[in-house]
Amino acid sequence: MSDIYQPGATIGMLGGGQLGRMSILAGRAMGYRFRVFEPKAGGAAAMVADSEVNSTYDDEAALKEFAEACDVVTLEFENVAREAVDTVSNAGPPVRPGANVLHICQNRRREKEFLKANDIPCAAFRVVASAEELAQAAQELGVPCVLKTADFGYDGKGQVKITELDADFAAIWQGLDMPLGVVEAWVPFEAECSVIVARGPDGQASCFPVAENIHRNHILHESIVPARLDELTLTASVELALRVAEAIDVVGLLAVELFVCGSGKVIVNEMAPRPHNSGHYSIDACQTSQFEQHIRAITGLPLGNTRLLRPTVMVNLLGDVWHDGDPDWSELLADPDVKLHLYDKGEPRPGRKMGHFTVLKDTIEEAIATADALFAKLI
Ligand code: AMP
Repeated sequence: MSDIYQPGATIGMLGGGQLGRMSILAGRAMGYRFRVFEPKAGGAAAMVADSEVNSTYDDEAALKEFAEACDVVTLEFENVAREAVDTVSNAGPPVRPGANVLHICQNRRREKEFLKANDIPCAAFRVVASAEELAQAAQELGVPCVLKTADFGYDGKGQVKITELDADFAAIWQGLDMPLGVVEAWVPFEAECSVIVARGPDGQASCFPVAENIHRNHILHESIVPARLDELTLTASVELALRVAEAIDVVGLLAVELFVCGSGKVIVNEMAPRPHNSGHYSIDACQTSQFEQHIRAITGLPLGNTRLLRPTVMVNLLGDVWHDGDPDWSELLADPDVKLHLYDKGEPRPGRKMGHFTVLKDTIEEAIATADALFAKLI
């Protein structure tokens, strides 16, 4: 079976959110067709796809029906059960990234153990299964430390910061309400950044420019590119991300989130085997976007040039900026250097990612100032 799927082929997308939507929009421009698998009909991705299958991820018949009409299958979120991925690939089309990559990335314990086994720097950690083990881990790692669920939560959900060695560990453990947790030493980072790596079936790999990420309430607020980091740190970030992608043997995208602990000193926070929110800037600011690159990588096409065209800031638009109906976009759109992206997701709940905007300017300082001033008017 050929590893290459030329334009005209049908790509299956497991998951129907905005990451799928933007991947499909990029792939459609190249002539690919798309079929979405998603429990709910008419979602953000399905709206721009050729067809969709709506069922749960444990419905084998529906997964087969979906897979049989696809040449190659990818995903837009990593929490697809292994059995579902196996059902799809047994029906014919390869799933990229494959089940092994997903298996590691969908569980924090496996992810940390993978990093450790491959000598990739990350925060010191302990796996805990009880309040007693939690107390012991806090003793060993010191405070502050962070208790996280082993199974992913995302955007900081299911995380508790432990600040005292005589904390009420029984209550904290009960509050997590999960059989297994991972306790991480607190990392006094100077900055957070991420690198998105694309890797084809032949091992060819390419990175996007390093993004500096600012979080609010554990959710990405803005990405600044170029990151305000020195050359040593930028090089170390790219090298580390490439090492992770190689070690895990991903086909497709791997977003690697990093903590910057000093000049040239970076450690891995976590990784996601899919397009990533911190790469949205690339749609407007790079010669090839992360979404086009995702399609190129999983279809086995040569990868595109990821050169940054202009300094840029991407700002997330959460449901919180919808007050009484849609926000007034007129000021934002009045600046010719601003691009607005909305995902057409319907109900704007607080914390829900509804869209983003990108500001492109001649200097990063100007882009940050404009982005922050425009955002301040929306809240
Ligand atoms: P996560 O969902 O694990 O990426 O965590 C969300 C955010 O919490 C990160 O982006 C950091 O800002 C913060 N955080 C998570 N783990 C740690 C840690 N071990 N030390 C310091 N800050 C952390």
